[in-house]
Amino acid sequence: MKITDVRTAVVEANYDWTFTRIYTDEGIHGTGESFLAPGLTAIISDLKPLLIGEDPRNVDKLFAKMRWAASGAGSMGGIIYNAISGIEAALWDVVGKHYGMPVYGLLGGKYRDRVRIYADCHAGEALEALDSVMVARHPGWLPETEKSVIAAEINHPVHGRAFGDAEADEIFTPEMYADRAREVVGSQGFTALKFDLDVPNPYTKDTHSGTLTHAEVKFLTSLAEGVREAVGDGVDISFDLHWRYNVSDAQRLAYELEPLGLMWLEDPVPPENIEAMRRVKQATKTPVSSGENYYLRYGFREALEKGALDIIAPDFQKAGGLLEGRKIADLADTHYVAVAPHCIASPLGTLASAHVCCAIPNFLALEWHGMSVPFWNDMVTGMSGDVIRDGYIEVPDAPGIGVELNEEVARRYARPGEPFFGE
Ligand code: MG
Repeated sequence: MKITDVRTAVVEANYDWTFTRIYTDEGIHGTGESFLAPGLTAIISDLKPLLIGEDPRNVDKLFAKMRWAASGAGSMGGIIYNAISGIEAALWDVVGKHYGMPVYGLLGGKYRDRVRIYADCHAGEALEALDSVMVARHPGWLPETEKSVIAAEINHPVHGRAFGDAEADEIFTPEMYADRAREVVGSQGFTALKFDLDVPNPYTKDTHSGTLTHAEVKFLTSLAEGVREAVGDGVDISFDLHWRYNVSDAQRLAYELEPLGLMWLEDPVPPENIEAMRRVKQATKTPVSSGENYYLRYGFREALEKGALDIIAPDFQKAGGLLEGRKIADLADTHYVAVAPHCIASPLGTLASAHVCCAIPNFLALEWHGMSVPFWNDMVTGMSGDVIRDGYIEVPDAPGIGVELNEEVARRYARPGEPFFGE
């Protein structure tokens, strides 16, 4: 079997869902998804000559071929791996279809039939759409009523420091967080939730400094208390800080959150200084998680060896793909660390991640970031009913990833100016 073509399509959803399709001389094609990145489809197109004429069944060898090519081009990590991850998942989809095996079977088989999903509830707001550098935008499917909110946010990157300000942005309250938590648990049966906690508030003195005022620590803690009170002890809750704070203020906030028994506190400090992360972790009983900005096993190695994290959150649409995901999880397991994969993908990428999640022992929960997208469930065919039911994904047994992209729906929301699988 030989690879004959590699094509891409981009759907303008809450993020850019970027799909790579691998075509073969046996008529089998496979589709994978990448985490967004600036210039992503151009990178995938540049990688294509490395794949044409190769046997798609040699997934690990082809992964290594792309990896060493990327190294020669100066990348041992970073967004070139967003491209490689989507290609790698598409290869597994081909291989599964060829051998009549679901991807989880190719990764070692199942520990579990259902994958527990945690719902990302953002900061309690209903809808958002962000471009490839996390700036708000308004695609056609967003209602007009959301556009004024987005217009206020449009000059602020959403993650990291110096975003938003309390005058321009909505001020959240514990009641809003509690209402959102009750709604998500009540209507959809989730057993695990995540909220953003690094939100604009009236107590911020400086959004550039990574500092928190005392009033701000109390206010952010009150938002988390609102969620815990709303859902009780039967639902696991976690909060994301998007690498925004310094070590001592992250420690203060983590300490205040201890009585709430969080599942985890995510990215309290920027991810690249492992010793700083370790200091936050060592100072608190609140479990600390990070990993959405790490690439490959090598990106997780130091944090795991130094005991800097309680939970890791690799994103299989960017960290190197599905087999690399399995390898990252195995590395974490040698340190008795659980894996809660980050995921902002369409159902196709989410299901690809779910195959990894059911094949690894140390799985905790997989993220679902699609609540704000009205057509999320419509993006794939081959599942009976919704992709996520009662807070779980039942991993399909059909060959490959087990679903196909619904091209009619994908085309309707295709990003203008991007090719749609060669059209
Ligand atoms: Mg995060």
